Amino acid sequence: MKGHYDTVIAGGGLAGASSAKALSIAGQKVCLLDKGLFASGASGSGLALVSPMMSRKGRPVWNVREALDILGFEDTGLLRPANSLEQAAYFEESSLQNPDLGTWISSGEAAGTFPYLLAPFGLVLVHRGYAIDLATTTKSWIDEAVDSGCEAIENVSVVSWSERRDHVVVILSNGDEIQASRLLLTMGPELADHPETRDLNLHPIKGQRIRLKKPLGWYPSILPISGAGFILDEGATLSIGATFEHDWTESGPTAAGRLELLDQAAEMIPDIRQMEVVEHISGIRVTVPGTRMPMLGLLPNHIRTWVFTGLGSKGVLMAALFGTKMPDFFNDITRIPSSCRVAIRTAKV
Ligand SMILES: Cc1cc2nc3c(=O)[nH]c(=O)nc-3n(C[C@H](O)[C@H](O)[C@H](O)COP(=O)(O)OP(=O)(O)OC[C@H]3O[C@@H](n4cnc5c(N)ncnc54)[C@H](O)[C@@H]3O)c2cc1C
Repeated sequence: MKGHYDTVIAGGGLAGASSAKALSIAGQKVCLLDKGLFASGASGSGLALVSPMMSRKGRPVWNVREALDILGFEDTGLLRPANSLEQAAYFEESSLQNPDLGTWISSGEAAGTFPYLLAPFGLVLVHRGYAIDLATTTKSWIDEAVDSGCEAIENVSVVSWSERRDHVVVILSNGDEIQASRLLLTMGPELADHPETRDLNLHPIKGQRIRLKKPLGWYPSILPISGAGFILDEGATLSIGATFEHDWTESGPTAAGRLELLDQAAEMIPDIRQMEVVEHISGIRVTVPGTRMPMLGLLPNHIRTWVFTGLGSKGVLMAALFGTKMPDFFNDITRIPSSCRVAIRTAKV
């Protein structure tokens, strides 16, 4: 770590990795740092769903076609069972309006085609959806950044920073001080630990997931399912997720979380009651209250310190959409959608 960087990035999860890749490919001198191993935060929490029709009403995710084009992974399709007649009507309408993203399938037809799944109100066969491993994706983006000249360093954290007129000085946990034209903070939940970022309008949501062993002779492979939580086929196991916990005292896995996941999943695949839990983990995703968008831009009262966070449950899609455009955003901050603006939490009265 020597000389002057165009951009130093603090945090090697999806947000930092996608930004590092785009900036390095654009010719910037980039240094990507992580306090632990890359993809050791939420971006290391296993298989993830990339679902173009994720909302309660099955509407397309914001700019989803562009995000899917950027990602460029081969899709398998996924199943989105409706949980009520009302939701079925929304899903059917959305499928008709977006035939490239979804095909509505009635309950009778679903029972014949997907016998492992209970879908009494019908389902959408979501096109262009799939499951991918978060850590593998994050690391492959970092590899591409490194191939384009990025310095990627693990086990070194950004401790503090101070802006000067024409550069920012970044202080590292190994005692080094490095200079850059700008600093990009992609530290996920740990933004809450720093005096300059702890008041950002961000909300951490804990998520637990479990892994179940498939019984011998059970279906060799099933499509990813996105309903009340998700069920993803890993071959010998099923990955079940994820809880949405807004208030918690215990950050690790809990018995209540495990029960909730099993109950939710068994509503979709009753056979799940017979399966053995072989792993149980938890993680934290950061969201921006009141928006379904990430937070991206300069920290208030700063000219060289940027933040990119709040990817929420759509981490892969949002990292692809916004990370890829980071060189443009640095050149012209007005290109960042106003719904992503950096905001401070307003005090509760
Ligand atoms: C249980 C669960 C299930 C999920 N399922 C899905 C899904 O199905 N589909 C989907 O798209 N998304 C999913 N997500 C969301 C997705 O994982 C997140 O949106 C995404 O990983 C967030 O990436 P990030 O880079 O912002 O943060 P993180 O991945 O948390 O990365 C932050 C990084 O910063 C590092 N760091 C912290 N402090 C410092 C410092 N001072 N200096 C240097 N480095 C630092 C950390 O070590 C960490 O590696 C899920 C999340 C959870 C928890």
